[in-house]
Amino acid sequence: MNKNVIVIGGGIIGLCSAYYLQKEGHHVTIIDQSNMDAGASYVNAGFLSPSHIIPLSAPGVMRKGLKWMFDPTSPLYIKPRLDSDFLKWTYAFNKSCNPNHVKNAIPAIKSLAVLSQELYKDIREKEHFSSQYQKDGILMLFQTEKMLHEELKHARLATEEGLEVNEVTLTDLKQLEPNVNLNVLGGMYYKCDAHTTPNEFMTEMKAYLKTNGVVFYPNEKVEDLEVKNKKIVALVTKAHKLTADEFVLAAGSWSATLSKKLGIHLLLEAGKGYRIDTTRSTGIKLPAILVESKVAVTPMHGFTRFAGTMEIAGINDTINKSRVNAIANAVTKYYPEISVTDTEKDAAASGLRPVSPDGLAYIGTSSKCSNLIIAAGHAMLGWSMATGTGKLVSELISEKKPSLELKMFSPDRKF
Ligand SMILES: Cc1cc2nc3c(=O)[nH]c(=O)nc-3n(C[C@H](O)[C@H](O)[C@H](O)COP(=O)(O)OP(=O)(O)OC[C@H]3O[C@@H](n4cnc5c(N)ncnc54)[C@H](O)[C@@H]3O)c2cc1C
Repeated sequence: MNKNVIVIGGGIIGLCSAYYLQKEGHHVTIIDQSNMDAGASYVNAGFLSPSHIIPLSAPGVMRKGLKWMFDPTSPLYIKPRLDSDFLKWTYAFNKSCNPNHVKNAIPAIKSLAVLSQELYKDIREKEHFSSQYQKDGILMLFQTEKMLHEELKHARLATEEGLEVNEVTLTDLKQLEPNVNLNVLGGMYYKCDAHTTPNEFMTEMKAYLKTNGVVFYPNEKVEDLEVKNKKIVALVTKAHKLTADEFVLAAGSWSATLSKKLGIHLLLEAGKGYRIDTTRSTGIKLPAILVESKVAVTPMHGFTRFAGTMEIAGINDTINKSRVNAIANAVTKYYPEISVTDTEKDAAASGLRPVSPDGLAYIGTSSKCSNLIIAAGHAMLGWSMATGTGKLVSELISEKKPSLELKMFSPDRKF
């Protein structure tokens, strides 16, 4: 049966949900409080990375977060707040930082990332998109023995999961990156990963959806959700009151504010990150992660992007110059001949990753509302997992068997 579906949020998760819903023959509307041209889905590093199988909440991360709290240049910053949602999130995050959770989460994370990577390719081919999709792999570049050991452990786990990864020597790196000098001890090469230019894919996807009948309401904030008998009966903005059979909550970092109106208490924090772009030629051929600094480097169509930092400090888009400088300094530390200019730093942009406390997204229904699918909380992997998430959302609404087991992603899971 074809349904009327409203998707709240037109970031990558909302657009991919709309794509698969429209393909199933549903009538889809997307509503977004912004002009749909900025934020996490535009500033991200563009990695489609099944290699990132370890959730953010891993052993030792909380300790690192506490240590880094007083360092203005640290890649992870958790700003303490006297707010019950934040305290509950921190408690759940700390509880998830254990080996058992990591072991259980890895297969779920990997399956969704692998499925999504295949679906990106599939969409591009089917819809004749010309946006960048290159499966050249990514390099994990490290400068210290300590990180070499950490990376060897990650690589072993990835290999056990069937992902293709090799340790590379400095000689190998010279061949892989012939046009740049690298100041590193060595690297791991994850051939399983791909990279994209986010702005290109977002633009092509929005154009595809518009051409194929999806209705857009940009610059309209969902202020309220009216509920009767555990069902949303209307969505309210300043200008409209809209009804539908089903709703999808894909409002990224803002999802918890909206879900609260339905009595659903999602634990979700915004994790701010920044990107710096340079259109000058860098000579960088392969995407990389500068491991100690946690900076991502992506050769995109027409420019190179440097992205990083995770600031858990509430919902705001202020730019912290110290952290932008830290990203720029990391670039020169690993690529000594490349430096970021002041103009490029001044043009840095930010985005908010929607971060759940256990590193797993919320995908599915809640017992508190029967006509809502939640699709939020993908943190550092929202780009990598968007197409798979969109397909799952559409399968749930179309009452089809989901492509993946969804238990670990349940919005009602207990922490
Ligand atoms: C610097 C950086 C680098 C990253 N790199 C990668 C990467 O390489 N690979 C990867 O997989 N992931 C990466 N990520 C993460 C990824 O970008 C995010 O997980 C993803 O974009 C989240 O998408 P989303 O659609 O859930 O949220 P968003 O893109 O934030 O979209 C949510 C939308 O909901 C709208 N909205 C919110 N509230 C309302 C309301 N009340 N009414 C109407 N609309 C509303 C917002 O305006 C917004 O447009 C990175 C993120 C950052 C910041």
